[in-house]
Amino acid sequence: MKFNAPRGTNDILPPESTKWQYIEKITHNLFTNYNYQEIRTPIFEYTELFQRGIGEVTDIVEKEMYTFEDKGGRSITLRPEGTASVIRSFLENKIYGQAQPTKYYYIGPMFRYERPQSGRFRQFHQLGVEAVASNDPALDAEIISLGIRLLEKLGLEDLDVHLNSVGCKSCRPKYVEKLKKYLNENRDDLCDNCKDRIEKNPLRVLDCKNEGCKMVIEDAPKITEHLCEDCRIHFDEVQNYLDLINIDYTVNPLLVRGLDYYTNTAFEIKDNSLGAQDTVFGGGRYNGLAEEIGNRDIPGIGFALGIERLLLSLEEQGIELPVEDSLDLYITVIGDKAKAEAFKLLDMLRNEGLKTEIDYLERSVGSQMKSADRMNAEYTIIIGEDELNKNSATIRNMKSGNEKEVKLDDLTSEMKQLVDKEVF
Ligand code: ATP
Ligand code: MG
Repeated sequence: MKFNAPRGTNDILPPESTKWQYIEKITHNLFTNYNYQEIRTPIFEYTELFQRGIGEVTDIVEKEMYTFEDKGGRSITLRPEGTASVIRSFLENKIYGQAQPTKYYYIGPMFRYERPQSGRFRQFHQLGVEAVASNDPALDAEIISLGIRLLEKLGLEDLDVHLNSVGCKSCRPKYVEKLKKYLNENRDDLCDNCKDRIEKNPLRVLDCKNEGCKMVIEDAPKITEHLCEDCRIHFDEVQNYLDLINIDYTVNPLLVRGLDYYTNTAFEIKDNSLGAQDTVFGGGRYNGLAEEIGNRDIPGIGFALGIERLLLSLEEQGIELPVEDSLDLYITVIGDKAKAEAFKLLDMLRNEGLKTEIDYLERSVGSQMKSADRMNAEYTIIIGEDELNKNSATIRNMKSGNEKEVKLDDLTSEMKQLVDKEVF
């Protein structure tokens, strides 16, 4: 019998997992500085939440959801994204009754039944933010900058920020009618998929990757030229705020999201070095979403970033994360009596915050020293009968070769002085 992990899933093994921990740590710190608080919602929800909250005519709901019936006969879906759950939670817990806006972030696994390939998996991970209950364009700029600053902190460069406004309930329908008319006039040059989309969801034609469709799209009416006064002002202000904090962007009128409850700001951050799956994060305003799933008129904006894609991007740009892969101290042990004493010391050292290890395979002194080397121990100490009798031992600095004799009772305090713990 041989088992494999399901297609499209990954084991995140050490030392790779230390990169994940590093990214998560930086995220927690940075997002906390921006005064976003962590929210943890369930991994599964009732299917209908996603049908309404993501939309029936999206790729996700049409073909990518992991949906099953539970033993009680309810339709359940593994979450394919975070926003619908966050807004469901905001409404269900009546957070709107508290001081606003509400600024949340989340980190966790998402599930989509897609064809696995580079940067595309069936279980993948997103970190994301949602700012709820304010329509202030400064918040749009804050959200975009937060994502950019995170990537900058990790060392990424040359990111392309694509920005657009998709208007609102009052201006978009008129634009969509114009677009439909134009697409119908050019129907013969569109792919079969897009022919279908003209009626179902014409905005989605705008991001079709088909060459023929791209030609048609080039001359299609642009949403940016059809915004109402309010939406135009909102879009201008988002750009002004981004300018104030030196965030570069390109206005891309083809960047749209197909659904009615997406309003105003839409954005995508791409890394050109990535190839086909080049979007590291994307998001936008969804002022109509709370109405759709909870009959409340509450605005919101957010982004979601794919962690696997972020790691690809880091790799592509040759960035090594400064992850900790060393030991403070390796205790080499000679004999059973020494092992008992070493085990007590080990417990004390670890509880004082020192990363310490001993041998668990009854290896020779030479092999233990090799282990210490392999584990990048900064210091080693040998404990045997002699050391126990003298109640002292020698700490060796593995890099410089310097040695220092210490009383075993003082080992912990000596080590604490020697190790200047790096905190990120
Ligand atoms: P794509 O165009 O790549 O399918 P999307 O529009 O479906 O992206 P979103 O729903 O906006 O993506 O999700 C936000 C981010 O999550 C993406 O920018 C990407 O980094 C990541 N992501 C989405 N789907 C996957 C997946 N199947 N595997 C890995 N990462 C993903
Ligand atoms: Mg997708």
